[in-house]
Amino acid sequence: MMKSRRMERSTSTFDFASYHTLDEIYNWMDTLVDDHPSLVSKIQIGQSYENRPLYVLKFSTGGSKRPAIWLDTGIHSREWITQATGIWTANKIATEYGRDPSITAILDSMDIFFEIVTNPDGFAFTHSSNRMWRKTRSINAGSSCVGVDPNRNWDAGFGGSGSSSNPCSETYHGPYAHSEREVKAIVDFIRGHGNVKSVISIHSYSQMLMFPYGYKTAPAPDHQELVRWPQNIDMGITKSSGLEKPLRLLQPHHDPPPDRSQLPQIPQRWLSPTLQPLQGSRGLPPALGSPFQRPTAPSAQKSFLRASLTLPWAA
Ligand SMILES: [Zn+2]
Repeated sequence: MMKSRRMERSTSTFDFASYHTLDEIYNWMDTLVDDHPSLVSKIQIGQSYENRPLYVLKFSTGGSKRPAIWLDTGIHSREWITQATGIWTANKIATEYGRDPSITAILDSMDIFFEIVTNPDGFAFTHSSNRMWRKTRSINAGSSCVGVDPNRNWDAGFGGSGSSSNPCSETYHGPYAHSEREVKAIVDFIRGHGNVKSVISIHSYSQMLMFPYGYKTAPAPDHQELVRWPQNIDMGITKSSGLEKPLRLLQPHHDPPPDRSQLPQIPQRWLSPTLQPLQGSRGLPPALGSPFQRPTAPSAQKSFLRASLTLPWAA
């Protein structure tokens, strides 16, 4: 642990197999930019409720407002393997451009925006006070309970099933859509950009790919394409990773939840005394790639492959 606490001076010596604090991750971002100045830059898209900067890494080989892919990890602060996966993936993108044909092809025509610590206040709190903190840290008027579930705060089926109006709930949707600075900053950035083609949010709550709509039963206008997309990803994952079982493809409100008995249970030693039972229509038990998994370079790689890719409702 001491090793992971020291300041990392080079991405080549950075320990990708440890969990890092917010300061360490933010310092690492600067190092990545320094190491790849013609490819990577850092943008601040806003400030958190507690006035921490909201940083996004931009991967671009040039052009102006190229079609773009948005990636985010850590919107649920306790899902530590996702921020670790974000670090690993961002480094992979930066170091493999010009070597890996897929990464090279994407970056020759598109930009990638990657917000690794999407909920920095919650993330700092998971290090300082409560490992299992999931929400933002905003004060709720009229309640002693703190925080909003930022992934229930989008203006997409706001307040619907799977979210709670109780500020003490882990899935509290907040007083109104985009009330959370961390959410509004993303919305403003993507709308302001105007050419973002794909938004992928990575959680660590199961081995699923989820796609729109998560909050109603009507199919999305591009439903057929959305069905083919995860099937192609699934084939690629199976081919490249050798996973015994492919990802489960789940469209919320259409598919029954997984059989809980078939999923690994939470290791009890990782539970904090303040952990609330995880429940609700989307409260599926953690599996591999869970917030409780320790990162290693291979596990980060597999976690990226196995991660729940969710739009816009998730675990
Ligand atoms: Zn989550």
